[in-house]
Amino acid sequence: MTVIRQADLIESVADALQYISYYHPLDFIQAVNEAYEREESTAAKDAMAQILINSRLCAEGKRPICQDTGIVTVFLKIGMKVQWEGEPGVAEMSVADMINEGVRRAYLNPDNVLRASILSDPAGARKNTKDNTPAVIHMEVVPGDELEVTVAAKGGGSENKAKLAMLNPSDSIVDWVLKTVPTMGAGWCPPGMLGIGIGGTAEKAVLLAKESLMDPIDIHELRKRGPQNRVEELRLEIMDKVNALGIGAQGLGGLTTVLDIKIKDFPTHAASLPVAMIPNCAATRHAHFVLDGSGPAHLEPPRLEDWPQITWDVGPRARRVNLDTVTPEDVLQWQPGETLLLSGKMLTGRDAAHKRMIEMFARGESLPEGVDLRGRFIYYVGPVDPVRDEVIGPAGPTTATRMDKFTETLLDKTGLLGMIGKAERGQVAIDAIKKHKAVYLMAVGGAAYLVSKAIRKAKIVAFHDLGMEAIHEFEVEDMPVTVAVDVNGTSVHKSGPVEWQAKIAQKLVVR
Ligand code: SF4
Repeated sequence: MTVIRQADLIESVADALQYISYYHPLDFIQAVNEAYEREESTAAKDAMAQILINSRLCAEGKRPICQDTGIVTVFLKIGMKVQWEGEPGVAEMSVADMINEGVRRAYLNPDNVLRASILSDPAGARKNTKDNTPAVIHMEVVPGDELEVTVAAKGGGSENKAKLAMLNPSDSIVDWVLKTVPTMGAGWCPPGMLGIGIGGTAEKAVLLAKESLMDPIDIHELRKRGPQNRVEELRLEIMDKVNALGIGAQGLGGLTTVLDIKIKDFPTHAASLPVAMIPNCAATRHAHFVLDGSGPAHLEPPRLEDWPQITWDVGPRARRVNLDTVTPEDVLQWQPGETLLLSGKMLTGRDAAHKRMIEMFARGESLPEGVDLRGRFIYYVGPVDPVRDEVIGPAGPTTATRMDKFTETLLDKTGLLGMIGKAERGQVAIDAIKKHKAVYLMAVGGAAYLVSKAIRKAKIVAFHDLGMEAIHEFEVEDMPVTVAVDVNGTSVHKSGPVEWQAKIAQKLVVR
């Protein structure tokens, strides 16, 4: 019989969540570095350079890899001989309460405050719970006297791209994956992993897909030793064929879209073939530990020498833009795929701020003081709060397509000149951008701490009550972005993958 103290589980969960907020798993960093070394697409290589530099900065500075510090997902394997012990004078907690207390402590840690992204009443008021609770918890009772814990913090951008299909038993899983991945766009911040669950029932397949993402990247070992069963054959076939789509890092076109394919399966009904797919993004975050009753878990910090030393200087080939003086005529000159270094003032706004602005227009109201968008740029971001002497915490871009439906109204009513976000725009937004001769610029998702280093000043100018979704004014210096949709509506997220898919096919660089 093992006795696990409630305080040990709480402390271990809190420590693990802090740890994964700033340390990427080393297997992930090595896989991105390999992809970076062999990448031939300049845009994709630049994006991976930023992800790797960001990762090292975060490990050194102990600050979050991404501004989206995730929804906490926990897998527990509880030994049947485990007993729980509460604290004297403290009410007995359920296992879920212990996990949630660990989440609360991690996200409110003043040394490395993490972003609280969880909203209660999701179909209604969508009110922030302020401490990132509750976690999504999966428990299994297994033989033994230990508690095995896997803790992950999953970004919303990649979670939003989860897919489920109830295929016919004779359907091809590979065909479904190849048809589905391009529909996911780049909002899941590739390069990353695809977790695939096959079999069981609908909910079992989804759970298997998520669980598969908790394993380390090991596709190279599999390739070396050769597949020994159908699932291993599928992993290699899907990996090669998805990479041959040419989507590339951040969807800009390139050789590597996925670093590994993970698959878990389970027996299923004779009439069924459930398949679920969940991507893991550039902010892959998970940790594993075991409690055996001897105290809280200790996760050894990684060696920083194991992080690649990347130097990246776009200065000589980038166009420098002063946001305080830029004109519509200047924007006409910007070419799709061109790198810009932005300096000056911009406003921020994401889902909730856009919704509120659109509602104000509908009521005939003007925007609050400080929110004059004429001739200016808006950055889709919900930053992490600052700590110590920071101006702002990690502040990378959020998925731009969520703002697509607001774009025409915003451009029309305000004279906004451009938007900055992550990944592609939908056709409705591209049409609006072309019509208004505006522009959409892309920053790298998953390089949030690096981006925050370019922000010199930050203040909230409107909608304080929206927390991280409030409208801020940022003053930036040399913030790197790519022209992703130009004034003519040319989108690099369309042209890049088409170009690289053709190049890969011609060169037969399929791996
Ligand atoms: S890397 Fe991209 S998908 Fe992942 S958490 Fe960050 S913004 Fe979201």
